[in-house]
Amino acid sequence: MPHRTPRRPPGRRGLHARAGRLPVPAPRRGAHVPQPLRRGVPGDLGGLPRRAGALLPGAGRPATRAEGHLRDAGRHGRLRHRAPPAVRGVLTVRIAIIGAGVAGLTTAKVLQQAGHDVTVLDRAPDVGGVWSATRRYPGLTTQSPARQYSFSDFPMPDGLPEWPTGEQVQAWLAAYAAEFGVRPRLGTEVTAARPDGDGWALSVEGSEERFDRLVVANGVFCEPAVPAYPGVGEFTAAGGRLVAGTGFHDAEEARGRHVLVVGYGKSACDVTVPISGVAASTDVIARQVLWKVPRRIAGVVNFKMLLLTRMGEALFRYVRLRGVERFLHGPGDGLHRRLLRSLGTVSVRQFGLARHDLVPPGSMEDIVRGAIGLATEGFFEGVAEGRITVRRDRTITRLLARDGAPHAELDDGVVLPADLVVCATGFTQGVPFLPDAVRDAVLDDRGNFALYRQIRPVGVPGLYFNGYNSSFFSPLNAEMAAVWIAADLAGALDLPDDAAMARAVAEQTAFMDAATDGHHCRATKIIPFSMHNVDEVLGDLDLQIPARVRASHWLNPVDPTAYRGVTPALLARLAARPAPPRAAVEQPAVLP
Ligand SMILES: Cc1cc2nc3c(=O)[nH]c(=O)nc-3n(C[C@H](O)[C@H](O)[C@H](O)COP(=O)(O)OP(=O)(O)OC[C@H]3O[C@@H](n4cnc5c(N)ncnc54)[C@H](O)[C@@H]3O)c2cc1C
Repeated sequence: MPHRTPRRPPGRRGLHARAGRLPVPAPRRGAHVPQPLRRGVPGDLGGLPRRAGALLPGAGRPATRAEGHLRDAGRHGRLRHRAPPAVRGVLTVRIAIIGAGVAGLTTAKVLQQAGHDVTVLDRAPDVGGVWSATRRYPGLTTQSPARQYSFSDFPMPDGLPEWPTGEQVQAWLAAYAAEFGVRPRLGTEVTAARPDGDGWALSVEGSEERFDRLVVANGVFCEPAVPAYPGVGEFTAAGGRLVAGTGFHDAEEARGRHVLVVGYGKSACDVTVPISGVAASTDVIARQVLWKVPRRIAGVVNFKMLLLTRMGEALFRYVRLRGVERFLHGPGDGLHRRLLRSLGTVSVRQFGLARHDLVPPGSMEDIVRGAIGLATEGFFEGVAEGRITVRRDRTITRLLARDGAPHAELDDGVVLPADLVVCATGFTQGVPFLPDAVRDAVLDDRGNFALYRQIRPVGVPGLYFNGYNSSFFSPLNAEMAAVWIAADLAGALDLPDDAAMARAVAEQTAFMDAATDGHHCRATKIIPFSMHNVDEVLGDLDLQIPARVRASHWLNPVDPTAYRGVTPALLARLAARPAPPRAAVEQPAVLP
């Protein structure tokens, strides 16, 4: 995000944690830090000592190098995490985290390591959010390969498939929570959260609980958006079933039935394949057909070699251009366009799209508009074999009963038998538990989330968001955001003033509007600029992995484990501060 003038020559910035003190100008030091953090510890918020000219611990070494104490390291890519420095007692505040998905869990882990008293609340009966048993549909896998869908210090276990199933991801997240002692209160919905003095009051299971700070990690792809079709009453009375993709858990429910799947995104295509194996008929109702990237381009090259590298990200023009990007979007403009176009050509050929009249409009560059657009294994094969019929450029106009049986009418007048309609039509992003006044501050006038660095609303003290940076590397982005939150809680970030932050947020949203044609899920999805976000977040922390490791990510897929030194480095800084007076440590955080 654009906002600051570098405080030192660009060549030096970001390579090493600097010696000395954080660059907070004395008069501003701690200016944005809420009072409870400073209680009894005069002047301890700025000036965190840094390691003298040291690389981040471990960041430059191969991910397989042992670095600590994890007992079952062999099961997690032979990576071991370092014991975090003990910082408990220095800046303890009580923090509530809403959500125990990827974002909530990693926030809890980092903030617990930073010494805070953390409570995670999730309405689901298990951890994992998107990957919870309550939200998994048959055919669900990650889009990112397992190695890229990873926390820096807890990769997926060895031996999983390249694209793990929802169940495998959930088990990995449960193991992450167990490993780091994160124990969410499950089956616990937060129905309201309101500012209360310097803290927050949460309505939980009929009673009110108070916390100093609130992190909203409720998932931007959590609430399915199911169209309100006319005629649904008549349709269900005739035995029809209308269900969101996330509410459809067993392909057997489609056995022998006429099924319509609404949507053409990854979820829609994923759920279609298992359904088509058992259903009497499977029709996909696609308002618009989209570009799909083959998992293995031309059957050979894993897509991650192209799109999950820094080079792949640089193919898309970012708000500010640096280094190679200046060439790619200057003299090399034709080159990068040709590359994306040729990916489109391969995809058309590989899937026989022309034969099935499924060539999308526009160019492959439009991939930026719809997540990653990875092709589902077996989808186009099902189309070729006639098990799956895609009705392109069509929508359902109404549901109805005909001859006592459930049907759906399309906008071209065609009426199809429809025992089951599965809507994979996206999600709504919302924070229904926040009061109107807070929502007004958190959302811009078009309903986009106005969050500085996708994390912090401007002018709402004590409130953070995580997971509002959905990306190709969501666990890594969420983990880095968690580190940012830990630093901000400690007053260790030198943030611009509110007006400058608001300008930066508005500029970023305007850029994403243009870059994605508005397909950024109310400013919560940062695709395809995942690593730019990581760089910006780390830039605020004045931390970065070694340049040569970053350089290796230009041609090889980004490896989140290269970032495993970030949390320990930040925690070491926090721990190196002088201990506060004992009374201050023991004093509980008090809300007025
Ligand atoms: C089908 C699908 C596939 C995806 N694949 C990838 C991928 O391959 N790579 C990638 O990088 N990203 C992927 N994503 C993006 C995905 O959203 C993130 O990877 C990540 O799982 C999101 O985690 P989260 O914690 O932000 O949200 P969620 O996982 O949605 O978790 C939010 C949690 O908050 C809880 N909650 C919400 N409201 C309340 C409340 N009021 N009270 C209590 N609890 C509440 C929910 O129960 C839920 O458990 C995918 C998303 C989807 C939907």
